[in-house]
Amino acid sequence: MNSNIFGSQRREPPKKALAIRKIAFTEIYAPDNAVDAQQQASRCLSCGSPFCEWRCPLHNPISKWLRLAAEGKIIEAAELSHHTNSLPEICGRVCPQEKLCELACVLNDTTGSITIGHIERYINDAAFAMGWRPNLSHISPVNKRVAIVGAGPAGLSCADVLIRNGVNVVVFDKHPEIGGLLTFGIPSFKLEKELMIQRREIFTEMGIQFQLNTEVGIDVSLDELLCSYDAIFIGTGTYQAIRGNLPKKSIQGVFEALPYLIANTRHLMQLPISKNEPYVNLHSKRVIVLGGGDTAMDCVRTAIRQGAKQVSCLYRRDEQSMPASQKEVANALEEGTQFHFNIQVTEFVVNEQQQLIGVYATRTQNGELENGRYQVEPLEDSTFFIETDTIIVAYGFAPHNQTWLEKPLIKRDKYGHILANRNSRFPFQTSQEKVFAGGDIIRGSDLVVTAVADGRNAAEGILLFLEV
Ligand code: SF4
Repeated sequence: MNSNIFGSQRREPPKKALAIRKIAFTEIYAPDNAVDAQQQASRCLSCGSPFCEWRCPLHNPISKWLRLAAEGKIIEAAELSHHTNSLPEICGRVCPQEKLCELACVLNDTTGSITIGHIERYINDAAFAMGWRPNLSHISPVNKRVAIVGAGPAGLSCADVLIRNGVNVVVFDKHPEIGGLLTFGIPSFKLEKELMIQRREIFTEMGIQFQLNTEVGIDVSLDELLCSYDAIFIGTGTYQAIRGNLPKKSIQGVFEALPYLIANTRHLMQLPISKNEPYVNLHSKRVIVLGGGDTAMDCVRTAIRQGAKQVSCLYRRDEQSMPASQKEVANALEEGTQFHFNIQVTEFVVNEQQQLIGVYATRTQNGELENGRYQVEPLEDSTFFIETDTIIVAYGFAPHNQTWLEKPLIKRDKYGHILANRNSRFPFQTSQEKVFAGGDIIRGSDLVVTAVADGRNAAEGILLFLEV
């Protein structure tokens, strides 16, 4: 890739973009072996003000498992990390730690924060490799059954807490493997697919039953589940692409981020390709990804691996406002992505065969701050043309159409998010008393760790409701 989207001559990335190349301390000191992990963990001062634990959405007892890791007690550390986190080996890999636990580490301003995410990943990988598995032999079964709809991080963590309390749990998912977007949305170069297969085996050994390739609303109705189970948890996520002001009609060469990523993963896993998510190979294409979140970074990095001729990321706001995690932006930049900020695509341009040949875009500036984000203000007379044959829209996601939520009625807001009260007597209960919900379907697209926290908290609500 040796040209940029504004012309054939190579241009250096803008100065601002270079700033994001600073590699975080955590990447330099990623512990790959026991000695590294012990050294990193022993840097913890046990400062007595565990800001890191409060910044973690799961309030993981970080300083305690760091101490165990420093002492070489890997099994004990993994055991403890499972008390608050149902997917610690996953969160250790995909959490934006620089915005969460590691941001709050008191060493951040001096020698650099402890590599908390990497250690969480290490202790669990190492414990699994040694054959350690959660031990539930002391748990007595209770005579309750709960159905979980969706095997993503919210559903899995809800199932994990319930099974640890003796509840019989069955998880339904339309995909052939568990994980939801962890398996099908996050590319394999970022999260190894074997991890979720290992997780399914661990959860199955713990007693969780999975009914995969089973779509609620098509293969089984909500009514049937309500008749057969004492409670239901819905964690189906949000899959509908947000298109902003862009035209909604389908154009050859314009793709949505999730179907593109999902089909690529299914292709790599040699699973049947679904009709709604056809496989797209961007080899030798000029690709522009619209958006500035982690999904946009997944798209640019996937396109690069497919052999795209040129890959650019256009973001509507400035670099500082980009929601993607620093390490993902640094990776995308290092792999050859060109970043352009304060540019908004307004129109697709097609040829006579209705194939994309370019886009019109305007330059923008940050406007008023609203709900913590700058509004996008287009600059007058700044419209220009960019030649391209491929656009991937990665503006974020809204709830997809789930008509099965209408009978019996599960109340939703005007955007389609399920209304589930986090602070009610039974946290995360919906308008149907037996139905609970959590994760992206109640709060909109958010982090994996937030979905894990919702699933765990909803499980507490279900246990209260079932009087377990
Ligand atoms: Fe940090 Fe995420 Fe682990 Fe919490 S779950 S300690 S935020 S890496």
